[in-house]
Amino acid sequence: MLIDSHCHLDFESLAADIDGVLARAAAAGVTGMVTISTHVDKFSTYAAIAERYENIWCSVGTHPHHADAELHIQTEDLVRISAHPRCVAIGEAGLDYFYDNAPREAQATGLRRHIAASRITGLPLVIHSRAADDDMAAILEEEAGQGTFPFVLHCFTAGQDLARRALALGGYISFSGIITFKNAEEIREVAKFVPADRYLVETDAPYLAPIPHRGQSNEPSFVRHTAEKLAEVRGISLEALGAETTANFARLFAKTGLV
Ligand SMILES: [Zn+2]
Ligand SMILES: [Zn+2]
Repeated sequence: MLIDSHCHLDFESLAADIDGVLARAAAAGVTGMVTISTHVDKFSTYAAIAERYENIWCSVGTHPHHADAELHIQTEDLVRISAHPRCVAIGEAGLDYFYDNAPREAQATGLRRHIAASRITGLPLVIHSRAADDDMAAILEEEAGQGTFPFVLHCFTAGQDLARRALALGGYISFSGIITFKNAEEIREVAKFVPADRYLVETDAPYLAPIPHRGQSNEPSFVRHTAEKLAEVRGISLEALGAETTANFARLFAKTGLV
Protein backbone atom coordinates (compact mmCIF):
# COMPACT_ATOMS: atom_id res chain seq x y z
CA MET A 1 0.00 0.00 0.00
CA LEU A 2 1.43 3.33 -1.14
CA ILE A 3 0.13 6.89 -1.30
CA ASP A 4 1.34 9.39 -3.90
CA SER A 5 1.43 12.48 -1.69
CA HIS A 6 2.09 14.90 -4.55
CA CYS A 7 1.00 14.80 -8.19
CA HIS A 8 -0.64 17.13 -10.70
CA LEU A 9 -3.58 15.25 -12.20
CA ASP A 10 -4.92 18.37 -13.90
CA PHE A 11 -2.02 18.36 -16.39
CA GLU A 12 -3.12 17.33 -19.85
CA SER A 13 -1.02 14.13 -20.11
CA LEU A 14 -2.72 12.77 -16.96
CA ALA A 15 -6.18 14.36 -17.22
CA ALA A 16 -6.70 13.01 -20.74
CA ASP A 17 -6.39 9.41 -19.46
CA ILE A 18 -7.45 9.74 -15.82
CA ASP A 19 -9.22 6.37 -15.65
CA GLY A 20 -6.19 4.58 -17.12
CA VAL A 21 -3.90 6.45 -14.72
CA LEU A 22 -6.03 5.38 -11.75
CA ALA A 23 -6.32 1.76 -12.93
CA ARG A 24 -2.54 1.47 -13.28
CA ALA A 25 -2.09 3.10 -9.87
CA ALA A 26 -4.44 0.59 -8.25
CA ALA A 27 -2.64 -2.30 -9.98
CA ALA A 28 0.67 -1.01 -8.57
CA GLY A 29 -0.76 -0.86 -5.03
CA VAL A 30 -1.12 2.93 -4.97
CA THR A 31 -4.26 3.47 -2.96
CA GLY A 32 -4.49 7.25 -2.78
CA MET A 33 -3.05 10.50 -4.09
CA VAL A 34 -3.17 14.25 -3.60
CA THR A 35 -3.48 16.41 -6.70
CA ILE A 36 -1.56 19.54 -5.84
CA SER A 37 -2.52 23.13 -6.66
CA THR A 38 -0.17 25.40 -8.58
CA HIS A 39 -2.69 28.24 -9.12
CA VAL A 40 -5.32 29.22 -6.56
CA ASP A 41 -7.34 30.61 -9.45
CA LYS A 42 -7.65 27.06 -10.84
CA PHE A 43 -8.89 25.52 -7.58
CA SER A 44 -12.24 24.47 -9.07
CA THR A 45 -10.37 22.18 -11.50
CA TYR A 46 -8.53 20.41 -8.66
CA ALA A 47 -11.67 20.18 -6.54
CA ALA A 48 -13.63 18.65 -9.43
CA ILE A 49 -11.08 15.81 -9.72
CA ALA A 50 -11.09 15.22 -5.96
CA GLU A 51 -14.88 15.26 -5.83
CA ARG A 52 -15.11 12.57 -8.50
CA TYR A 53 -12.80 9.97 -6.86
CA GLU A 54 -12.86 9.00 -3.20
CA ASN A 55 -9.10 8.25 -3.03
CA ILE A 56 -8.01 11.56 -4.56
CA TRP A 57 -7.72 14.72 -2.49
CA CYS A 58 -6.55 18.21 -3.45
CA SER A 59 -4.75 21.24 -2.05
CA VAL A 60 -4.92 25.01 -2.52
CA GLY A 61 -1.92 27.19 -3.16
CA THR A 62 0.32 29.10 -5.55
CA HIS A 63 3.50 27.53 -6.93
CA PRO A 64 6.49 29.88 -6.52
CA HIS A 65 6.76 30.10 -10.32
CA HIS A 66 3.40 31.92 -10.28
CA ALA A 67 3.89 33.92 -7.07
CA ASP A 68 3.93 37.24 -8.90
CA ALA A 69 0.80 36.41 -10.93
CA GLU A 70 -1.11 35.50 -7.75
CA LEU A 71 0.03 38.24 -5.40
CA HIS A 72 -3.67 39.14 -5.05
CA ILE A 73 -4.23 35.90 -3.12
CA GLN A 74 -4.30 36.69 0.59
CA THR A 75 -4.09 34.40 3.62
CA GLU A 76 -7.84 34.69 4.17
CA ASP A 77 -8.51 33.51 0.60
CA LEU A 78 -6.44 30.37 1.24
CA VAL A 79 -8.21 29.76 4.55
CA ARG A 80 -11.66 30.19 3.01
CA ILE A 81 -11.01 27.96 -0.03
CA SER A 82 -9.29 25.26 2.04
CA ALA A 83 -12.56 24.64 3.89
CA HIS A 84 -13.68 22.61 0.86
CA PRO A 85 -14.22 19.06 2.21
CA ARG A 86 -11.82 17.48 -0.31
CA CYS A 87 -9.03 20.03 0.24
CA VAL A 88 -6.51 18.52 2.67
CA ALA A 89 -3.44 20.79 2.38
CA ILE A 90 -2.13 24.30 1.69
CA GLY A 91 0.35 24.74 -1.20
CA GLU A 92 2.42 24.12 -3.04
CA ALA A 93 4.21 27.34 -2.19
CA GLY A 94 7.84 28.10 -1.59
CA LEU A 95 11.06 29.36 -3.12
CA ASP A 96 12.54 28.34 -6.46
CA TYR A 97 15.87 30.09 -7.06
CA PHE A 98 16.84 27.58 -9.75
CA TYR A 99 14.36 28.95 -12.27
CA ASP A 100 13.64 32.33 -10.61
CA ASN A 101 10.44 32.51 -12.67
CA ALA A 102 8.98 35.03 -10.21
CA PRO A 103 10.82 37.77 -8.28
CA ARG A 104 12.21 36.33 -5.03
CA GLU A 105 10.38 38.92 -2.95
CA ALA A 106 7.04 37.78 -4.41
CA GLN A 107 7.94 34.15 -3.74
CA ALA A 108 8.72 34.93 -0.09
CA THR A 109 5.55 36.99 0.34
CA GLY A 110 3.47 34.15 -1.07
CA LEU A 111 5.23 31.58 1.10
CA ARG A 112 4.57 33.58 4.27
CA ARG A 113 0.85 33.92 3.43
CA HIS A 114 0.63 30.16 2.89
CA ILE A 115 2.41 29.55 6.21
CA ALA A 116 -0.13 31.79 7.93
CA ALA A 117 -2.99 29.86 6.33
CA SER A 118 -1.47 26.57 7.46
CA ARG A 119 -1.10 27.90 11.00
CA ILE A 120 -4.74 29.07 11.09
CA THR A 121 -6.27 25.93 9.54
CA GLY A 122 -3.90 23.28 10.89
CA LEU A 123 -3.65 21.88 7.35
CA PRO A 124 -0.16 20.81 6.26
CA LEU A 125 1.81 23.20 4.06
CA VAL A 126 3.31 21.56 0.96
CA ILE A 127 6.61 23.36 0.39
CA HIS A 128 8.50 23.60 -2.89
CA SER A 129 12.15 24.51 -2.27
CA ARG A 130 14.77 24.49 -4.98
CA ALA A 131 18.26 25.99 -4.73
CA ALA A 132 17.03 28.16 -1.84
CA ASP A 133 18.20 26.23 1.25
CA ASP A 134 19.44 29.15 3.35
CA ASP A 135 16.47 31.46 2.79
CA MET A 136 14.01 28.59 3.21
CA ALA A 137 15.52 27.49 6.52
CA ALA A 138 15.58 31.08 7.78
CA ILE A 139 11.92 31.73 6.87
CA LEU A 140 10.73 28.43 8.35
CA GLU A 141 12.59 29.05 11.61
CA GLU A 142 11.44 32.65 11.90
CA GLU A 143 7.80 31.76 11.13
CA ALA A 144 7.80 28.73 13.44
CA GLY A 145 8.88 31.10 16.21
CA GLN A 146 5.57 32.92 15.75
CA GLY A 147 3.52 29.73 15.99
CA THR A 148 4.02 26.23 14.69
CA PHE A 149 2.52 24.87 11.49
CA PRO A 150 2.68 21.37 9.95
CA PHE A 151 4.66 21.09 6.73
CA VAL A 152 6.40 18.83 4.24
CA LEU A 153 9.38 19.66 2.06
CA HIS A 154 8.17 18.05 -1.15
CA CYS A 155 10.35 16.53 -3.91
CA PHE A 156 13.33 16.89 -1.63
CA THR A 157 16.50 18.00 -3.43
CA ALA A 158 18.08 20.18 -0.75
CA GLY A 159 21.15 19.62 1.35
CA GLN A 160 21.48 17.91 4.72
CA ASP A 161 21.44 21.20 6.64
CA LEU A 162 17.93 22.17 5.45
CA ALA A 163 16.76 18.59 6.08
CA ARG A 164 17.97 18.67 9.68
CA ARG A 165 16.59 22.16 10.36
CA ALA A 166 13.18 21.21 8.88
CA LEU A 167 13.07 18.01 10.95
CA ALA A 168 13.93 20.03 14.06
CA LEU A 169 10.83 22.13 13.40
CA GLY A 170 8.66 19.01 13.20
CA GLY A 171 8.59 18.97 9.40
CA TYR A 172 8.29 16.00 7.07
CA ILE A 173 10.38 15.21 3.99
CA SER A 174 8.94 13.74 0.80
CA PHE A 175 11.08 11.83 -1.69
CA SER A 176 10.37 11.73 -5.42
CA GLY A 177 11.74 9.75 -8.37
CA ILE A 178 14.91 11.81 -8.16
CA ILE A 179 16.10 9.37 -5.49
CA THR A 180 16.43 6.72 -8.21
CA PHE A 181 18.74 8.92 -10.30
CA LYS A 182 22.40 7.99 -10.42
CA ASN A 183 23.67 11.41 -9.30
CA ALA A 184 21.33 11.69 -6.29
CA GLU A 185 23.80 10.38 -3.71
CA GLU A 186 23.34 13.36 -1.37
CA ILE A 187 19.55 12.89 -1.35
CA ARG A 188 20.01 9.19 -0.57
CA GLU A 189 22.22 10.23 2.37
CA VAL A 190 19.33 12.31 3.72
CA ALA A 191 16.95 9.39 3.12
CA LYS A 192 19.08 7.27 5.44
CA PHE A 193 18.73 9.53 8.49
CA VAL A 194 15.16 10.83 8.24
CA PRO A 195 13.20 9.31 11.15
CA ALA A 196 10.74 6.54 10.26
CA ASP A 197 7.81 8.74 11.26
CA ARG A 198 8.79 11.77 9.15
CA TYR A 199 8.98 10.80 5.49
CA LEU A 200 6.65 10.41 2.53
CA VAL A 201 6.83 9.34 -1.10
CA GLU A 202 5.50 11.14 -4.15
CA THR A 203 5.78 11.32 -7.93
CA ASP A 204 5.33 15.05 -8.69
CA ALA A 205 3.77 13.63 -11.87
CA PRO A 206 3.83 14.41 -14.74
CA TYR A 207 7.41 15.51 -14.02
CA LEU A 208 10.46 13.56 -12.86
CA ALA A 209 9.59 9.99 -13.76
CA PRO A 210 11.80 7.57 -11.80
CA ILE A 211 14.14 5.06 -13.35
CA PRO A 212 13.21 2.87 -15.33
CA HIS A 213 10.73 5.40 -16.78
CA ARG A 214 13.03 8.43 -16.82
CA GLY A 215 12.13 10.80 -19.63
CA GLN A 216 8.55 9.54 -19.90
CA SER A 217 5.50 11.31 -18.55
CA ASN A 218 5.33 10.39 -14.87
CA GLU A 219 2.17 9.03 -13.22
CA PRO A 220 1.13 7.88 -9.72
CA SER A 221 1.72 4.16 -10.40
CA PHE A 222 5.44 4.95 -10.79
CA VAL A 223 5.70 5.93 -7.11
CA ARG A 224 6.35 2.24 -6.58
CA HIS A 225 9.83 2.58 -8.14
CA THR A 226 10.64 5.44 -5.80
CA ALA A 227 9.38 3.39 -2.86
CA GLU A 228 11.47 0.38 -3.87
CA LYS A 229 14.64 2.50 -4.07
CA LEU A 230 13.89 4.21 -0.77
CA ALA A 231 13.27 0.85 0.93
CA GLU A 232 16.62 -0.39 -0.37
CA VAL A 233 18.41 2.76 0.88
CA ARG A 234 16.78 2.47 4.31
CA GLY A 235 17.34 -1.28 4.53
CA ILE A 236 13.68 -2.21 5.03
CA SER A 237 11.13 -4.16 2.99
CA LEU A 238 8.80 -2.48 0.52
CA GLU A 239 5.90 -3.57 2.71
CA ALA A 240 7.41 -1.89 5.77
CA LEU A 241 8.08 1.26 3.77
CA GLY A 242 4.49 1.28 2.53
CA ALA A 243 3.20 0.93 6.07
CA GLU A 244 5.44 3.72 7.42
CA THR A 245 4.79 6.20 4.64
CA THR A 246 1.05 5.56 4.65
CA ALA A 247 0.86 6.06 8.42
CA ASN A 248 2.90 9.25 8.07
CA PHE A 249 0.64 10.49 5.31
CA ALA A 250 -2.48 9.78 7.36
CA ARG A 251 -1.01 11.66 10.35
CA LEU A 252 0.14 14.71 8.38
CA PHE A 253 -2.82 14.85 5.99
CA ALA A 254 -5.24 14.11 8.81
CA LYS A 255 -8.21 15.69 7.01
CA THR A 256 -8.21 12.69 4.63
CA GLY A 257 -9.64 10.69 7.54
CA LEU A 258 -7.35 7.76 6.71
CA VAL A 259 -6.06 7.35 10.28
ZN1 LIG B 1 7.12 21.53 -6.48
ZN1 LIG C 1 4.43 19.80 -7.73
